[in-house]
Amino acid sequence: MTVKANISEIKSALPANVALVAVSKFHPAEAIMEAYNAGQRVFGESRVQELVAKYEQLPKDIEWHMIGHLQTNKVRAIAPFVSLIHSVDSRRLLECINREAERCGRVIDCLLEVHVAREQTKSGWDSEELLAFVCSGELAAMKNIRIRGIMGMATNTDDIAIIRSDFERLAAIKAQITPMFDSSFNVLSMGMSDDYPIAIQCGSTMVRIGSSIFGQRNY
Ligand SMILES: *Cc1c(COP(=O)(O)O)cnc(C)c1O
Repeated sequence: MTVKANISEIKSALPANVALVAVSKFHPAEAIMEAYNAGQRVFGESRVQELVAKYEQLPKDIEWHMIGHLQTNKVRAIAPFVSLIHSVDSRRLLECINREAERCGRVIDCLLEVHVAREQTKSGWDSEELLAFVCSGELAAMKNIRIRGIMGMATNTDDIAIIRSDFERLAAIKAQITPMFDSSFNVLSMGMSDDYPIAIQCGSTMVRIGSSIFGQRNY
């Protein structure tokens, strides 16, 4: 299957309210251009250096999403152009993004990454921590950040019941904190190649799909 065929197959299966982020990490610019020529404009990357290099090389109407763990010392490199940061996992990172966004005269859209998976290795706020932070009112002072929703990953398992319960938890956490934001808080980023149909059943509005579009990655 070609990238173009993969994209049209996935798109035809997505409800109209679910956005597709094509996760292009570890794939070359040529592969991204194949997707671009098939009409895809939203791409996700997980490493800053790769994201910046691709941004510089590729058409300027691409929306670049940062989906991988982000270190504060790397924020400056992406602040001028990034469209959405999915992986915001601490107050310190938020403060840094706010500062860098102000420096370039932007308001940067962010998602709060929530940790629900059983692996300890995955990052993100735990739900109590997140709730306490959102209730603290500290976000109101961060004028150059707009929180658009939450992002999360399910446990890496074949057990569909566990995956479903992880996604249901993410949806519940989003519903719980929605009243503390304005109407632009409307993104629930969850679902990858192996689990996106379940994520959509659980209310995902944004799926992040890599290998089902571009094939296996060579790390
Ligand atoms: C790599 C990655 C994806 C895409 O994974 P696939 O299984 O290739 O679809 C989605 N989300 C995040 C955070 C990733 O790092």
